[in-house]
Amino acid sequence: MTTPSTGPDLRVVLLGTGTSAGVPTLGCTCDVCLSTDPHNKRMRCCAYIETCGRRILIDCGTDLRTQAIANHITDVDMVLLTHTHADHVNGMDDLRAYNMVHRHAINVYGQSDSLDDLRARFAYCFRPAPPGGGVPQLTLHPIEADTDLVLEGVAVRPLTIFHGTLPILGFRIGRFAYLTDVSRIPEETFAALEGVEVLVTSALRRRPHPTHMCISESVEVAKRIGARQTWFIHMCHDLDHDATNATLPPGIALAYDGLSFDV
Ligand SMILES: [Zn+2]
Ligand SMILES: [Zn+2]
Ligand SMILES: [Zn+2]
Repeated sequence: MTTPSTGPDLRVVLLGTGTSAGVPTLGCTCDVCLSTDPHNKRMRCCAYIETCGRRILIDCGTDLRTQAIANHITDVDMVLLTHTHADHVNGMDDLRAYNMVHRHAINVYGQSDSLDDLRARFAYCFRPAPPGGGVPQLTLHPIEADTDLVLEGVAVRPLTIFHGTLPILGFRIGRFAYLTDVSRIPEETFAALEGVEVLVTSALRRRPHPTHMCISESVEVAKRIGARQTWFIHMCHDLDHDATNATLPPGIALAYDGLSFDV
């Protein structure tokens, strides 16, 4: 395959690194939920990327507004959707603030079944706006997995990964790849990840889970892909930041909210 190229710079900010319930988890009094270490505060997963003059979100999670304020995100051109579980799409309504300020619709790219799901769950966004407006202006674009695409000038390869039995999307942009909510990676996707320098992938907890890789599985995947640096996301409250990182091999670590890097 051809390696997608994005030009010289790609900046990534991991806006949220927690599992669906976030950490602290409501009602829980475990050590991690009560921890005062800011690295143990994990909002729902969402990533922000700047490349080729475009501002891209991967997913649009529940905590988007708080994350966008904290990270000074002044506009969004496009959203790449991995899948439509609530923790990955429940921030969609907050995109309307960008629509209002910048007077442009936001393009959302995802698998056609994900887009159908968005139309059903956010139906009010796709009806004529009521007097006074106030609904997000989203333009939905279906994309095919495992094809090299150029979206608004950015070379993107959507990758098939499995979340339990559900096929969802990971994304490769240049030498960066983002694979969240993954429990199994098909061989073709491993092939398409050759040459990735920085990998972000999910690691829920130490115990196995039917729809998410656990730490030992994620380490194995990270070693096989062989990126210079792998960051884990989508962690639950079982994992203390420092204690877990002390057990991980070099080049592999738990990420934290607000972590940013250039690729
Ligand atoms: Zn999730
Ligand atoms: Zn807890
Ligand atoms: Zn999910």
